[in-house]
Amino acid sequence: MEIWKGGVISNQIKEQAESELSGLARVPRLAIIRVGERPDDVSYERGAVKKLQSFGLEVESHVFEEGISDGAFREEFCRINADPQTDGILVLRPLPKQLDEHWVEETIDPRKDVDGISPVNIAKVFSGDRTGFAPCTAEAVLWMLKGNGISLEGKRAVVVGRSMVVGRPLSMLLLHENATVTICHSRTKDLPAVCRGAEILVACVGKARMIGRDYVGEGALVVDVGINVDQEGRLCGDVDFASLEGRAAAATPVPGGVGGVTTAVLALHLIRAARQA
Ligand code: NAP
Repeated sequence: MEIWKGGVISNQIKEQAESELSGLARVPRLAIIRVGERPDDVSYERGAVKKLQSFGLEVESHVFEEGISDGAFREEFCRINADPQTDGILVLRPLPKQLDEHWVEETIDPRKDVDGISPVNIAKVFSGDRTGFAPCTAEAVLWMLKGNGISLEGKRAVVVGRSMVVGRPLSMLLLHENATVTICHSRTKDLPAVCRGAEILVACVGKARMIGRDYVGEGALVVDVGINVDQEGRLCGDVDFASLEGRAAAATPVPGGVGGVTTAVLALHLIRAARQA
């Protein structure tokens, strides 16, 4: 079984980013908005800052107290959203309960919405208009496949998970590449059998090592989006990676797979946002 490492694809994205960066009058700047100290958010932010800086980009973190009121948060958000020096905005979510995420989605400037949360960008992803921003993770899966030389045209792709962050936008991106897409979720009947029919299987379920050997057809390409912590406290994906040996043709590991590609796509989106400003 081939192991598809994220680092290889990140380097491909970096090459493209460097060529798109040349000719820009100033260094693009990302504003990361974090409320509170959730370990997931802190760790994602750390990875994103490191990756963006390695691409020669600027990052400014805006950290607010967990208990910030909705009014105060809106004021801060509007200030960042309107700042002409800010090219892209990444809001770490979920936000605490007192804050209105829906308002954030509606308010973020679609041209700065580098992680594709605004209804404008979501509509573009669904309609196949490539001028918008898709959620970085969904696009990272596409990079993982295409960067490894896989043509998607006519392929049977099964996506397990239908969230608006990963499963749904990813399914649309695969569809626009002319794959034949099946979207699965918690009510799907006989999930292992549906998954076994996939030439390309993408797991975005959020359940540690749920997708085992019996979900994978001979020669399938398996992309694992999941980021989970197992009972021993170790980071793992949605796929039981070790069980795929001798069954899948290729699979992505966790850690070391899609996660790092996601932040590379974020960097590419930021450069594009700055070019369009
Ligand atoms: P989510 O919002 O919890 O969605 C999970 C999806 O999986 C839902 O559609 C749910 O179905 C489905 N599901 C749950 N249990 C299932 C089961 N037993 N059988 C079939 N389907 C099942 O999660 P998410 O935000 O999409 O994230 C998914 C995973 O990706 C998580 O591990 C997350 O940490 C990871 N992630 C990774 C990155 C990255 O950069 N690599 C970025 C974002 C997220 P229903 O709709 O029916 O409930």
